[in-house]
Amino acid sequence: MTKSYLLKNAKRSDADAPCNRRTAKLIFNFQLLIFNFLALPTLAQCQQPTNMPAVASPTITEKSVKPWKAAVEISESDVAQQGIDAFFSIDTISDAVFSRMKGKSYGANCTVPRSDLRYLRMLHVDAEGCIKTGEMVCNKIIANDLLDIFKQLYQAKYPIERMVLIDDYNANDELSMRDNNSSCFNFRVVAGSKTLSKHARGLAVDINTRYNPYVRTRQGRRLVSPDNGTAYADRSRPSPYKIERGDLLYRLFIEHGFTWGGAWKYSKDYQHFEKR
Ligand SMILES: [Zn+2]
Repeated sequence: MTKSYLLKNAKRSDADAPCNRRTAKLIFNFQLLIFNFLALPTLAQCQQPTNMPAVASPTITEKSVKPWKAAVEISESDVAQQGIDAFFSIDTISDAVFSRMKGKSYGANCTVPRSDLRYLRMLHVDAEGCIKTGEMVCNKIIANDLLDIFKQLYQAKYPIERMVLIDDYNANDELSMRDNNSSCFNFRVVAGSKTLSKHARGLAVDINTRYNPYVRTRQGRRLVSPDNGTAYADRSRPSPYKIERGDLLYRLFIEHGFTWGGAWKYSKDYQHFEKR
């Protein structure tokens, strides 16, 4: 992924930028092509969604319904028009998706078969109430769990800022976390160790990463990842993206059999949920 693309993403994810301004940027940047792909007649005005459709059971598809671009703002009326299930699906890893992953999250040493992985298309709502398209690669074992969890979070307007493949950051976890990106699969070791991470099998999810950092002590020194999330290691610090024990996101993951890194004894990984 080019540096300019990353910079563009970084700008777009600026939590301080007003919704309308970012929407205008999207109009300028993506033009009609993207909107034709998504068949979106209007742009989001970023008003608070109301009258959300009822929760439906997870939709499983084995092939892409239509081209999908993550991190695009869409309107509530578009969702209502097409139906929520058009925006939540599970797919096998297409050649197009695999070409993004190869040599990045799916390195040459990857021991997880491509056929064990799934590509999720989802929606999420950011802290300003903007609806955005999201994407995630995970293990097929937890694909239904994640679709169900994120659909419920979307319907409850639980704030999640960004959800694109970590390959857009060259599979660099620190860069992805700095951008507050939520992601799952990445064939890598646990930071600072030789142990394969649960992310390596696509069995762990990191959410709202900048505001829910990974905090651990090494040789008496406290380390916080990402570095721009250091202030949020103080869990009394308010943030619309903070994950707390007992909140809706926490409860949904626990109900689906995940454990939370924020409950670990010797380190705290507040962004992290994994299934064993
Ligand atoms: Zn994690």
